[in-house]
Amino acid sequence: MEFIPISKPSITQKEIQYIMDAVSSGWVSSLGKYVDMFEEKFASYCGTKYALTTSNGTTALHLVLVALGIKPGDEVIVPDITFVATGNAVKYVGAQAVIVDIEEETLCIDPESVKKAITPKTKAIIAVHLYGHPANMEEINKIAGEYGIIVIEDAAEAHGAEVNGKKVGSLGHVGTFSFYGNKIITTGEGGMITTNDENLYERMRHLRDHAMSKEKRYWHTEVGFNYRMTNIQAALGLAQLERIDEIIAKKRLIFEWYKEGLKDIEGIKLNYEAPWAKNVYWMLCFEVEGYTEKQRDELMKRLKEKNIDTRPYFYPLSDMPMFEKKIDTPVAHRVYQRGLNLPSYFDISKENVDYVCEVIKELLKI
Ligand SMILES: *Cc1c(COP(=O)(O)O)cnc(C)c1O
Repeated sequence: MEFIPISKPSITQKEIQYIMDAVSSGWVSSLGKYVDMFEEKFASYCGTKYALTTSNGTTALHLVLVALGIKPGDEVIVPDITFVATGNAVKYVGAQAVIVDIEEETLCIDPESVKKAITPKTKAIIAVHLYGHPANMEEINKIAGEYGIIVIEDAAEAHGAEVNGKKVGSLGHVGTFSFYGNKIITTGEGGMITTNDENLYERMRHLRDHAMSKEKRYWHTEVGFNYRMTNIQAALGLAQLERIDEIIAKKRLIFEWYKEGLKDIEGIKLNYEAPWAKNVYWMLCFEVEGYTEKQRDELMKRLKEKNIDTRPYFYPLSDMPMFEKKIDTPVAHRVYQRGLNLPSYFDISKENVDYVCEVIKELLKI
């Protein structure tokens, strides 16, 4: 069997055509029609008034926090299991990342744990839609509403995921996305912010472009950023966005292949889908009940020997030296050790998925 990578973008003639058009137009930096078209189409896809492109998903998060005025002395609640960028962005503005536990089924931030972590200093909650499954936004919004706290969705892994038929990015006060090469859709490097808040949108737009004065070019009254996306990246993004329904349908189909192929194994858990949710299955999640980190790593090594690429679940942020551990997170610590991701990229064949399932069965001695 040929090497089966964990992830690979799907690039068709459409993407190549749009990129060629962007490059040959001469508009290679961040002015150009593709940036506007990508933002407009993304806002309408998510069902928000505004969408703002950024240079990546991390700068999207940073820009949101700066524009919201979050500063040293403030606290921002984040889930223990997420990509490190969620926590780092809070650090960039000098605020404290208050790490809370996750739900065992959805793997997303646990509303009960959030409730317990709220203090008078809490300014925002970052709900991460992990591995393609949306966080329990109804509960999170309810809690945030009670305490007057802002909800930020980190939707970097869940473009198109839904809660009760509404798309992520439109469910909190503001949402962020990533278009890194392994995400649901890609621009190479890139990000997006979605919101219905006009003032926040204008503020983020201003800060993204060096906070340059509107009336007087090259005059600045505060420190801004260059967090823009290029027209070439936006051309790639627009082509990908035009194919997103097809991409998500395929991700859901791949999940069904795995579910069928692994159905005879006891003591394993694959991705969950809550009754109120639409999962976009960004990463295929595979957990072996009772596994330790060592056993999990051994299984990954054995799979690699069979030419199957995998990746471990994210490690708990609270175990990393730059974050403070204030709250116990038993679920996060139980789950990360037993979890790994299996290949589920757009072009993977049924034959390859069947092969992965057979190898797993053999290694787990079924
Ligand atoms: C990928 C990712 C990011 C960061 O996006 P980049 O574009 O790589 O900067 C942030 N949060 C989560 C949950 C991610 O998966």
